[in-house]
Amino acid sequence: MPAPIHLDHNATTRPAPQVVEAMREVLEQEWGNPSSVHRAGLAARRRVELARESVARLVGAEPREVIFTSGGTESANLAIRGTLGALASTRRRVLVTSRLEHAAVRECAERLARDGVEVAWLPHRPDGVVEVEALRRLLDARAAEVALVSLMWANNETGVIAPIAEIAALCRARGVRFHTDGVQWAGRLATDLRASPIDLLTLSAHKFHGPKGVGALVVRGGARIEAQILGGPQERERRGGTENVPGIVGLGVAADRARAEISPAAETHLASLRDRLERGVRARCPEVVVNGAGAPRVPGTTNLGFPRLGAEAILVALSERGVFASAGAACSSGSLDPSPVLLAMGVPEEVAHGSIRFSLSGETTEAEIDRAIEEVSTVVARLSRTLTA
Ligand code: PLP
Repeated sequence: MPAPIHLDHNATTRPAPQVVEAMREVLEQEWGNPSSVHRAGLAARRRVELARESVARLVGAEPREVIFTSGGTESANLAIRGTLGALASTRRRVLVTSRLEHAAVRECAERLARDGVEVAWLPHRPDGVVEVEALRRLLDARAAEVALVSLMWANNETGVIAPIAEIAALCRARGVRFHTDGVQWAGRLATDLRASPIDLLTLSAHKFHGPKGVGALVVRGGARIEAQILGGPQERERRGGTENVPGIVGLGVAADRARAEISPAAETHLASLRDRLERGVRARCPEVVVNGAGAPRVPGTTNLGFPRLGAEAILVALSERGVFASAGAACSSGSLDPSPVLLAMGVPEEVAHGSIRFSLSGETTEAEIDRAIEEVSTVVARLSRTLTA
């Protein structure tokens, strides 16, 4: 059996060899507590601070603006809850977001809504791009009541890109804080916070060849954030708990690696592989629908809907043939529910049920794409026959 083809890089990526090596070194040799004042502590502290500089360089921020967390989910929760907490004594009590967000933001917003916070859910176009005009109208009417606007940079299921520069400028002009969940963007595509008035940026190491369980919230310009994990003065009192030194070091190395690899040429190459996959599958499965196709998309993600088929059956059959992909869906009682994000985009249920996300990285090769096209068309043809049998 040939080596498996990992087309699930939006779920996670392989830790780069230099990441693994640096983490091993820290685990074996620099396992001090960065809060200790002795030499072992200082050595660990130095590694943490070097990693902070690496993350800051990756996104065009200052090192003191980087808060290390346990990953994208915690960073998004900290951005939202930490902002509401910091602004608790003000009139700013409204959270603005959208139904297309990753669960890290969406479920946090839903919980806050149940707890009495007013959440304004922005409408979006059928291609999955949030309605900027609706945000403009809302802010024109109520800017002084809004605590935070939280909208993702690139959607994890469809790859659809939000007009982040425009949204950030809109929020800044009206004096409203803006958080973006950049988990599917930062570390993969050029990110420069000096050029864009984003106040809070969430990123996660394992989406760009770093380790799992570590990420950062970048808080620009001294915006106040109330700690959500209490119990220590770490991270300038914004996130208590002894630092995950090996993870943080791995994140720093992954950030350096990403900065060296991100380029327009790499982006064009990735988009050409994604287009090849879409073209190849379309040629063999004419019924396929590319979800979010009309919108600007990141180069490495495509979401393909196979009408009337079930995503789970496709994924299992593909996995048996060595192609790993995923459905942006929750598994409940052994069957996949259609993705709420696709349904919110108005994708018909029979297409959403059979929608599969393929996500690529710089490690993906043309030969892998060609084999994936063959395997996908074989599986789809076989499952389609069982429908008509
Ligand atoms: N936000 C987005 C857009 C994601 O894709 C993910 C992970 O899939 C997360 C947040 C959560 O990140 P983590 O796995 O680091 O908690």
